[in-house]
Amino acid sequence: GKPKVVVVGGGAGGATAARYIAKDSAGEIDVTLIEPSRSYYTCFFSNLYIGGFWEIENLAHSYGKLAADYGINVVHDWATGVDRDAKTVALAGGGSVPYDRLILSPGIDFVDGAVPGWDVSAQNAMPHAYKGGSQTELLKAQIMAMPEGGTYVMVAPPNPYRCPPGPYERISMVAHQLKANNPTAKIIIADPKESFSKQALFEEGWQKHYSGMVTRIGPDFGGGNVTVDPAAMTVDIDGEVVKADVVNVIPAQKAGLICEAAGLTDGNWAPVDGASMVSRMDENIHILGDATNQGDMPKSGYSANSQAKVAAMAVRGALTGSRVFPAKYSNTCWSLIATDDGVKVGAAYEPNEEKIASVSSFVSQTGEDEAMRKATYEESIGWYEGITTDMFG
Ligand code: FAD
Repeated sequence: GKPKVVVVGGGAGGATAARYIAKDSAGEIDVTLIEPSRSYYTCFFSNLYIGGFWEIENLAHSYGKLAADYGINVVHDWATGVDRDAKTVALAGGGSVPYDRLILSPGIDFVDGAVPGWDVSAQNAMPHAYKGGSQTELLKAQIMAMPEGGTYVMVAPPNPYRCPPGPYERISMVAHQLKANNPTAKIIIADPKESFSKQALFEEGWQKHYSGMVTRIGPDFGGGNVTVDPAAMTVDIDGEVVKADVVNVIPAQKAGLICEAAGLTDGNWAPVDGASMVSRMDENIHILGDATNQGDMPKSGYSANSQAKVAAMAVRGALTGSRVFPAKYSNTCWSLIATDDGVKVGAAYEPNEEKIASVSSFVSQTGEDEAMRKATYEESIGWYEGITTDMFG
């Protein structure tokens, strides 16, 4: 029969890989995509929904075209384990699916006990909104229900985590929403990191648009020493107890659990060879996106999509003998600070023996004029349309 590729996870990495393999192999490869959700809600641009720029529907994408237009067998189920000797993937609903090559792109899970007092049973009281969909809607509803002059606290994550500028874009969009609806409200960030992505740009923007609203407590002031009490809605920051109306806990992260279950992790992440995104522990398994330890690329949708194309090419080459070109990668992370005030950071990457290495980079500058910032924002909208079409057809 035809060679079989199974893809676990229908997000930025997995959906792209499945679509490229199906599209470019012209029916020579059987592609199965295992993904529990019927609708994928992007995390990217979820902050724009929180800020009031986008509707929740704008973030939702179905797998219908992957099945109907590309012939991909879309299985809505969880993969619960991988038998690497038999080359099968076990499903929560029972049964298993055989593969010649397996691609894992399960995104992130949270490190147990990362924020004392918080676990997944507390995510309704203190949402993370770091996986898309219902958590994003919950966090926004809580922000909209804040009492006048109330307090929003974010517990920011340690490195490395999904979307380095994501928490700070979120702060910008929460501030935008509160400035319009609750201008005396306060925002506190407890942060374990000395510095963060696009820091000068965000701090300039907060000063300009939301002066006096945002306070960041870095590690020198105990921002890394946080305990939460979801029942009392309090956050203890280095001994100082803050009573909050909304607490957005973004815990430390690790590779999606299936990677660990398959024995493909070293520490919190799954090591891969950047020449093809193949696991360093199994030559028949490629791993993409946030779950990987690959080198210099940030954990982003753009990165996962870029990595998926390299892996798709390598897998097709191995299974059908199609031509394989040297891997090249790119990433850009855009962030919206206020209306039409967009900034970006990005780089190009190439693999060497040790890791995927940055070969050139760029970043927006402080003090840029409004036309430039608006153009950057508009570019980001174009990117969203492009990547979601690249993922879902
Ligand atoms: P995901 O896209 O999360 O996909 C993983 C999929 O795997 C999920 O659909 C999940 O249901 C499925 N899955 C997990 N386990 C299993 C299993 N056992 N069996 C079957 N399926 C499974 N990136 C950008 O490039 N630009 C941005 O502007 C941007 N903004 C962001 C803003 C926020 C607030 C956040 C949180 C993230 C943002 N990101 C952004 C990051 C981006 O969302 C992730 O980096 C990207 O989604 C990673 O792709 P992935 O394929 O690794 O994981």
